[in-house]
Amino acid sequence: MEVAAVEGLMQDYELSLQHVLWRIERLHQKKEVVTKRDEGIHRTTYGEMVPRINRLAGVLKQIGVKPGDRVATLAWNNNRHLELYYAVPCMGAVLHTLNLRLFPQHLEFIINDAEDKVLFVDQSLLPLLKPLIGKIPSIKTYVLMAEGNPAAADGMPAMLDYETMLAAESESYPWPKISERMAAAMCYTSGTTGNPKGVVYSHRSQFIHTMGVLQGDNLGLTEADSLLPVVPMFHANSWGLPYAAGMAGAKVVFPGRFSADAKSIVELAQEEEVTFLAGVPTVWIGLASYLKESGQRLPKVRTVVCGGSAVPRSLMETMDSVGLRILHAWGMTETSPLGSVARVAAGTREEDELRLRLTQGRVAPGVEIRITDPTSGEELPWDGVAFGEIQVRGPWIARGYHNGYDPDKLTEDGWFRTGDVAKISPEGYIQIVDRTKDVIKSGGEWISSVELENAVMAHPKIIEAAVIGLPHAKWDERPVVYAVPRPEFKGQVTEEEIKDFLKDKVARWWLPDEVRFIDEVPKTSVGKFDKKVLRANATPIKEGMKQEARK
Ligand code: ADP
Repeated sequence: MEVAAVEGLMQDYELSLQHVLWRIERLHQKKEVVTKRDEGIHRTTYGEMVPRINRLAGVLKQIGVKPGDRVATLAWNNNRHLELYYAVPCMGAVLHTLNLRLFPQHLEFIINDAEDKVLFVDQSLLPLLKPLIGKIPSIKTYVLMAEGNPAAADGMPAMLDYETMLAAESESYPWPKISERMAAAMCYTSGTTGNPKGVVYSHRSQFIHTMGVLQGDNLGLTEADSLLPVVPMFHANSWGLPYAAGMAGAKVVFPGRFSADAKSIVELAQEEEVTFLAGVPTVWIGLASYLKESGQRLPKVRTVVCGGSAVPRSLMETMDSVGLRILHAWGMTETSPLGSVARVAAGTREEDELRLRLTQGRVAPGVEIRITDPTSGEELPWDGVAFGEIQVRGPWIARGYHNGYDPDKLTEDGWFRTGDVAKISPEGYIQIVDRTKDVIKSGGEWISSVELENAVMAHPKIIEAAVIGLPHAKWDERPVVYAVPRPEFKGQVTEEEIKDFLKDKVARWWLPDEVRFIDEVPKTSVGKFDKKVLRANATPIKEGMKQEARK
């Protein structure tokens, strides 16, 4: 029987970031925004920020920014960056946060690809910008964000001064009507597995994603929290946390350029009574070591969101031992980035908790997930055994890239191909096995480089380990471990010791062909293991060579 369609009688309210701006103005006036700067702590409130956001929108208009124009930022996590987070999208333009850890040629590519029109730059980052001058013709105006006295470096184009420009504008701005499908912000993928590609968020996707982040069973940020995002504001919009903080009214504490310094993070967290931290595993590996050495603790912190790469068991346990509870999350730039969160379901047996917290968790409400067979494309069961590519769809999942790159990322039936390989348990816990490009293909079977890494990192003498597959004459590829000994064990750990350690932890045929010791695992611009670099510099497997010679 056909059901007659009847329209609901609710308002067509456009979902936009202007709503978040409205909330910080009306409800969260007194909430603090704190930034660590070179000269000390900078303290402001949303109440003081809102007139500045209005002035900033006036500046943007004054320098000719039109709806849809891309406005780039090259900035640390700080209060001015947050002002840009509001002013740019709310006046109709597109906030393009540049990854300040990229090589100049990547930045040049990205700025040209996005055709950024204006660039806001922190004074301390001018040296990064210098090699790009003359190569980024779309940028018509540079705005310098100085601490202390503004002074552009030699050989740089003329720059407007942020504070002088703001002072000349009005405290109120006639915000335009925004349609929810308009672009609000843009982020490039960090290029771990290929060229960076521009992901373009809409007001609607950002709004719904913000509500998702706030949901209790997701990241669960609340008004009572004091948030310290170590994750950079250029890394998938700091995982959506700045807008979530504005929507909820949480206090925000920015580390400025001190995000890689564990001591600074700990001091800042103690002084500002931080309750909520977010960052990639490498950050917490450093922080946990510092806490252990110094004896300092962070008793007020209730959640440490950790994503971007899998959380090694050793890290989760060390953090537990210093009283910090990691909340493991999975996502990618293309998923805004929240995809799944490892909250353990009510009624779970205590002995299963750690294992489940180490999975990538269950898919976020609003997002649908499936795993598919890489060759047939068939959907695979959620039996905790079968593994295939994760595909997702939902209101904050990308449907394409800026300039139309990679049109095949979307399946014919509209799901986004993530390039991550996973199995899913009957209860819905996702276990990422690898990236399609990192999984090791040995004798027609797959070895998960991630699982092997975690097993090696559980060795007490090892602090970090990355595993790659190298060509092998007989098996196609075989795993090779690159391990970093803890400083006190440098030169005192052997290949045999690691192999012995792994014997009862992984299948026999997963045992690495070689263990190579290095001082540091090369990292990408967002702190992930850079396996491209390891592969490019790797010498062939010894056994593989012999096999080849025998052929
Ligand atoms: P890039 O793809 O350029 O590295 P992203 O920061 O968007 O940039 O990275 C997304 C990828 O990071 C995911 O596709 C996945 O492979 C990996 N990733 C993110 N979070 C996790 C996690 N919790 N566990 C394992 N892998 C993760």
